[in-house]
Amino acid sequence: MRTAVISDIHGNLEALEAVIGDIATRSADRIICLGDIVGYGPNPVECVDLVAETCEWSLIGNHDFGVLYEPTNFNYAAEQAAYWTRRQFEQETDSEKAARRWDFLGRLRVRVLDGPFLCVHGSPRRPINEYLFPEDAVNSPVKMQQIFERIEKYCLVGHTHVPGVFTDEPDFYPPADLDAVYTFVNGEKAIINPGSIGQPRDLNPRASYCVMDLERVEFYRVEYDTEAVAKKIKAIPELSDWLGERLLEGR
Ligand code: ZN
Repeated sequence: MRTAVISDIHGNLEALEAVIGDIATRSADRIICLGDIVGYGPNPVECVDLVAETCEWSLIGNHDFGVLYEPTNFNYAAEQAAYWTRRQFEQETDSEKAARRWDFLGRLRVRVLDGPFLCVHGSPRRPINEYLFPEDAVNSPVKMQQIFERIEKYCLVGHTHVPGVFTDEPDFYPPADLDAVYTFVNGEKAIINPGSIGQPRDLNPRASYCVMDLERVEFYRVEYDTEAVAKKIKAIPELSDWLGERLLEGR
């Protein structure tokens, strides 16, 4: 079975639609989502509807959590965006649609064991909030060891918006170092990050996702109209202009 893995959509509908269109050309059998469907971006409601419609399941990210419950450890811009996002859901006048969305958000999962893949938004240790940064492979070997101890075989994470593969050496490989394909090695544990759909932070503005089976992971990037989304963000006073500007640079 070929599974498309998407993450960190952040209310960016143009990016999500472009990726779903691209996935349709990759003969994937299903799509799963690692969380942060909302937060930062201008179309959180539409993104939730599209994920509900197209994904087999989705995890809860810290931004989904912030909208449903309370933003924790957010900077000012992220907190303002979270409150604005919550209002978009509250403003729905069709009570059936509103109830369906809150129900969907309330049932997002903290962790899923999907075959040999442990799936969490952040890390196996703190599933919603802990970041696994590429630098950790060099700077934090103890952290990486503790994380890998919690993984039977493979793990899928999002949250940093940086695509790539952690191995238990520990090491980190960005897709560019792998020619965009990672082949699982027998006996080697691996943590896969598909990167972000709606707010990439690896200096590549194109939306990032991956398609995998039990043997390998293929990383893909998809172009979309970043200018249009940046414009939408700038037109919403509660969303900081920077949230739009960063999309143009992928940072
Ligand atoms: Zn995120």
